[in-house]
Amino acid sequence: MRIDLHTHSNRSDGTDTVDVLMRHAQQAGLDVIALTDHDTADGWVDGRRAAEELGIGFVPGLEISCKLNGISVHLLGYLLDPTYAPLAKDLQVVREGRTDRIPTIVARLNSIGVPLTVDEVLAQATGTPSVGRPHVADALVANGTVANRSEAFDRFLADGRAGHVPHYALEPGAAIELVREAGGVPVIAHPWGRSSYKVMTEENLAGLVADHGLAGIEVDHQDHSPASREALRAIARNLGIIYTGSSDHHGLGKIDHDLGVNSTEPEQFERLLDVAKANAAASGSVVPEAYLP
Ligand code: AMP
Ligand code: ZN
Ligand code: FE
Ligand code: FE
Repeated sequence: MRIDLHTHSNRSDGTDTVDVLMRHAQQAGLDVIALTDHDTADGWVDGRRAAEELGIGFVPGLEISCKLNGISVHLLGYLLDPTYAPLAKDLQVVREGRTDRIPTIVARLNSIGVPLTVDEVLAQATGTPSVGRPHVADALVANGTVANRSEAFDRFLADGRAGHVPHYALEPGAAIELVREAGGVPVIAHPWGRSSYKVMTEENLAGLVADHGLAGIEVDHQDHSPASREALRAIARNLGIIYTGSSDHHGLGKIDHDLGVNSTEPEQFERLLDVAKANAAASGSVVPEAYLP
C-alpha cells in the first residue's frame, strides 16, 4: 500500500489540474492519494471522480493557513464537511486576504525595479480563486526575471523579502477545533518545516493535542531531516497521536516533491480513518467518505 496524504492541484498553487494529478498518482503507483489544496475543497468532486475512474483511493482534504505568534503554520484537515459554516467562512476570508494583497506585492516589487503587472500574476492562476505567492513567482518566471519558483521566493517572496505581504490566517488551536466540529481529522503539516519549527515545539504540540484535539502530525516530509523525522515520530508516539508521511507534491511547482516520495504507513492510515469515523459521528455533520476501491 502506497499512501500519499498531502498533494496540491491548480485549485490552489499546484501546477496540474486535478485530473492530471490523479493520473500521475496512478502512474506513480499510489494506492491512495489525498488532495489537500490550500484553503479550498474545490477539487474534491473532480478528484473523487477521477480517482474512481482510475481505480485508486481518494481522501478529500485541505491545508489550512494558520499563524502562531506571527509564524506560518499549516494544518491538514481530512474528511470534513466543507460546508460547515464557521470553517467555510474563515477559509473564504483567508482566500480573499491572499488574493487582495497581490496589487501590494506587485507595487512593492515594482518599487525595487522588478517589472511585473497584476494581470501577469492573474494569468498564472487560472484554476483557482485564491492567488498566492507561488503565482507571483510563476509570473516572474514567465517574464524572465527568475529561472524558477525557488529563485523567486529566495530573492523576492520569502518572509522578510520585499514582496512578502502577510495575509489573514487562523490560530492553529481554533482551526483544529473547526476541523473537528466539521467532522474531520486535524493533522499539523510539516511541523518542523521552513519557519514553523520555531513555534511547533513539543510543548506546543502537546498543548494542541490536550487543549484542542490535534489528531496527528506529518513526520515524513521533504522539509524534515532524517533526525527531525525520528524526533517527531518519537513525539507522536509520546503524545499518542498519528504520524503521516507525504510528498506535498505541487506538480512542477516544487522540485524534489515527487508523488510518493514519502508515504504513510497503512496502520497510521487506518488510525486516521478511525478518528474520522469518531469525529464525524460526534459532529453530526454529513462528511464525505474516503474512496477506497
Ligand atoms: P501564500 O499563501 O500566498 O503566502 O503562499 C504560500 C505558499 O507558497 C506555500 O504553501 C508554499 O507552497 C509556497 N512557499 C512558501 N515559501 C516558499 C519558499 N521559500 N520556496 C518555495 N515555495 C514556498
Ligand atoms: Zn502550496
Ligand atoms: Fe504547507
Ligand atoms: Fe502543502
